[in-house]
Amino acid sequence: MAHVKLHIPGPVEVSEKTFKAMTSPMIGHRGQGFKDLYAKMQPQLQTLLGTKQLVYLSTSSAWGVMEGAIRNLVAKKVLNCMCGAFSDKWLDVSLRCGKQAEGLQVPWGSPIRAEEVDKKLATGQFDALTLIHNETSTGTMSPLLEIAALKKKYPDVMFIVDAVSSLTALPIKFDELGIDVLLAGTQKAFAMPPGLAVFTASPAALAKAATIKDRGYYFDFVEFEKNAKDSMTPSTPAIPHIYGLASKLDDFFAEGLEARYARHKKTNQMTRDWAARHGFTLFPEAGYESVTLCCVNNGAKPGGRTVDAAKLQKLVKDQGFLIDGGYGKIKGTTFRLSNMGDETEATMQQLYTALDNAMKQL
Ligand SMILES: *Cc1c(COP(=O)(O)O)cnc(C)c1O
Repeated sequence: MAHVKLHIPGPVEVSEKTFKAMTSPMIGHRGQGFKDLYAKMQPQLQTLLGTKQLVYLSTSSAWGVMEGAIRNLVAKKVLNCMCGAFSDKWLDVSLRCGKQAEGLQVPWGSPIRAEEVDKKLATGQFDALTLIHNETSTGTMSPLLEIAALKKKYPDVMFIVDAVSSLTALPIKFDELGIDVLLAGTQKAFAMPPGLAVFTASPAALAKAATIKDRGYYFDFVEFEKNAKDSMTPSTPAIPHIYGLASKLDDFFAEGLEARYARHKKTNQMTRDWAARHGFTLFPEAGYESVTLCCVNNGAKPGGRTVDAAKLQKLVKDQGFLIDGGYGKIKGTTFRLSNMGDETEATMQQLYTALDNAMKQL
């Protein structure tokens, strides 16, 4: 079967080097070999997340930790900020966990604004807040720095941040921003296969979790902390993925984090330019566009050009590239082009060439 290169916003393309690392021989997860592997990654992970806290490895997709954060940290009521498919879903997940929850819903394509969060938190009803930094379904990035600055007024509110499709593409400083839980899955900007999530928790979050009953076992943050102190995970982790992560972290630091961030910014700008050249507008509100993907407006909002998104996708796929035809209620009326992970100016150029060819046939 011919390989179709992924330019959907997750999972993304995985390098041969990463795949090869994942086939290293198995080791016991309670042995010194595993502890050494995890201990070697710990300072790299801490630098990546901007924290002195221990970073945990969870054998699950991101949703495992997203649900876990609700189970571990919500005693009173959680405010779920909602601006797209993933963030909207988080309210549903909170309710399914049996928690009191309320949504702060804005139209898809709009970011979450600090003033709106402030108004809600000022009611004193909430002890937790969830925010998706980069809402992948709409390609919209919410102003994390402003929201973090505002949140400092409410020290008792647990600040849970999903950076699934942004972590490693731009700096996110956990300690400095006063975040309580920061999490990411590895199949997005980390450019690894799906199945692993990384996260960290603040001292306040760990203290709060210890007071919460019914936080379960698999995603018990107290267990993660206890085990991480000894460079272990609570249960048997996906060791192949952890080999892959170790290889990936070496890649990040060999390239340099600043260079990695600059590369994402550059390749994302190239995609924006491609869209503009063809008369398209972007779906997100101006100024809040993601740096890891472009959600191209294809009729979901007034303005700009429209094409048959399914046909565009097919024509591009015939040339060996998979793009996304839009997610959830904006399927077809948007389409998404990912530049996250290992993509370079040269590899992105190949995608634009395929897209240009396809556009001529529409
Ligand atoms: C992909 C994604 C998720 C869900 O991740 P899973 O790996 O499917 O659990 C959550 N949040 C964001 C922002 C995402 O892009």
